[in-house]
Amino acid sequence: MTFKLAQKSLSVSIKNSLLTSVFLLLLILGGVSIMAKMRMTSLQNTIEAVGRDRLPKLRALGEINLGLARVRSASYRIALTATPEQREQVEALFNQRLGTLNEKIEEFRQGLQGNSPLRLIFEQFVGKWKAYGKHQALITDPELARDRVRYSEIVNVETEEHFHAVVETINSGIKLANQEADAAIDEAIASSQFYSVLLWAVNGISILIGLVTLIFVVRDVSAPIHRITHSMELIAKGELETEIPYADRSNELGMMARALVVFKKSLVENERLSAATRTLSELSEWLQSAKSEPELYGMISSVLGRLMPECKGGLFVYANSRDVLEVAAEWNGQSSAATMHPEDCWSLRRGHAYVHGTSEIEFRCDHVHSGVNENYCCIPILAHGETVGLLHLEYTLDHSETAEEAKARFADRARLGLACAEHLSIAIANMKLREGLRDQSVRDVLTGLNNRRYLLETARRELLRAERNRHPVSVMTIDVDHFKTFNDNHGHDAGDTVLRHVGEILSAMFADDAVPCRFGGEEFVVLLPGADIDEAATRAEELRAKIEALTIRYADGQLPRVTISAGIAGFPDAGGNLMDILKAADEALYRAKQNGRNRIERSNDLPVQQANEQSADRAVAELGAVLAQMEQKETAAGRPGRKHRHKAA
Ligand code: GH3
Ligand code: MG
Ligand code: MG
Repeated sequence: MTFKLAQKSLSVSIKNSLLTSVFLLLLILGGVSIMAKMRMTSLQNTIEAVGRDRLPKLRALGEINLGLARVRSASYRIALTATPEQREQVEALFNQRLGTLNEKIEEFRQGLQGNSPLRLIFEQFVGKWKAYGKHQALITDPELARDRVRYSEIVNVETEEHFHAVVETINSGIKLANQEADAAIDEAIASSQFYSVLLWAVNGISILIGLVTLIFVVRDVSAPIHRITHSMELIAKGELETEIPYADRSNELGMMARALVVFKKSLVENERLSAATRTLSELSEWLQSAKSEPELYGMISSVLGRLMPECKGGLFVYANSRDVLEVAAEWNGQSSAATMHPEDCWSLRRGHAYVHGTSEIEFRCDHVHSGVNENYCCIPILAHGETVGLLHLEYTLDHSETAEEAKARFADRARLGLACAEHLSIAIANMKLREGLRDQSVRDVLTGLNNRRYLLETARRELLRAERNRHPVSVMTIDVDHFKTFNDNHGHDAGDTVLRHVGEILSAMFADDAVPCRFGGEEFVVLLPGADIDEAATRAEELRAKIEALTIRYADGQLPRVTISAGIAGFPDAGGNLMDILKAADEALYRAKQNGRNRIERSNDLPVQQANEQSADRAVAELGAVLAQMEQKETAAGRPGRKHRHKAA
């Protein structure tokens, strides 16, 4: 519809001008209509007046006509009187009729105005009537009436002709008066018809314009304003999902709608920011209660991902070596390299947050790959004056927004990122502190393996679980062979190096599915949840072979190979608690030592008699241990010491 297209591009001011013009047009049409109506009424009055006026005129002219005949008949009678008395009577009648007639003529003459044709004719009549006076004097002359022939000649020929002319004139007047009235009525009727048509046309056009204007006002002005106002009310009430119509229009309505869109966006943004602030303080509380680093990073990735859905992000944390940062958490589809160097990031080099895309002079960080748009930021995470990591955010461009809108939106996200970084830094620092403390209490410094305390804690848990699920648990006790001699020959430091290597092998072989620990000195224990004694023996054999094959470089040379002996016992066969199982494993280890070292023994391999013997041996060994302790004390007092409890005879 052309009408609709025109509306789309018309501005409200133009629409207002159009409405004003339409209003003026309607006013003019109303004026014309009133004028036509008035004119019609006046024409109606004219017709009525003409009709009303015609009758008295015609009556007056008719009476004058009659008066003429009566005067003429009276004039005959004067001539025909026989006596003076009769003549006097008839003359009186004649004079009365003549006087009446002349009065009527004068009265009618007075009533005629201007120079109308009727007046001209009437003037002719008056002239002729006056001229007829001398002919009438002949008729009333008694002398002439005596000569019958002459009188007949005067009456029927000479005066009749003049009288006839007078009557003709008055008849013409009557005719003309009639014609004049008819013409006036015809003209008034014609005019009245014209005005009637004009009135219908004007009324029709006015109604049409009124209807079109009404539709236009309702559809293109009132309805849009009503809809926009309604949206405004809903948004003000907090219903921020409300659609805003007409934002695509180019006129003032469109401007109004677009202003409302901007207003709504800022409300949504404020709402989001305050929700984010609330979430942040909640997050902080949650983060403080995370029990491990992986759990903490999992929480961070899930919360930041939801807090800033339009940003990909990643959290990097310094590795213990502090030469690289490792990816700790990523969200919203971010995938960075697993590690990054501190020199690759401008924020880490300059020591403060870096929001890229906001300044004239700026350089991209090397760790940000070229596919990333210019809106990204890096925020160092500082705790207790030390940088512990880096929060990296990348804005995902929404193609419906302009570059400026994206920049402004991202600036908000970067501010939120800064607030997040503060909360994260506290949580990460606390976690690191806690992990460090815990690490110190459960980790052996020399080998990096867990210590005896950790083993006791874990074993309790694992044994309970195994009991519940009816799973086996195996325990492997390991002792380095002739280690005292090794120390004596190569020095304590070389001995430490060996222990470190043994620790590494244990860690590599068992850290994934078992719990390798340094139990004390050159003794190690591996707890193997889910493994039965056969499986444990196989793996112990594997370990033994690996250590036997181990070559260790030390100082400028190579240390001699070391071997281990191991004893294996399992839950539930060897007992229900760690102490019983350890004891059984220890006994097997003792047998391994006895049987020549560099070998594995299992506790369930013990024959009954041997077991009995071993109980006795154990009693002797324990006695020996007590003696050894006493000797150690004596040695400390200056006397020579005794051997370890495992030391084979
Ligand atoms: P066996 O084959 O019977 O086990 O002989 P062994 O010499 O290993 O036996 P013993 O238990 O008597 O010796 C243990 C030695 O381990 C004593 C000590 O010098 C050494 N040792 C204990 N802890 C450490 C340590 O942390 N570092 C070093 N270098 N040596 C240690
Ligand atoms: Mg030992
Ligand atoms: Mg030993």
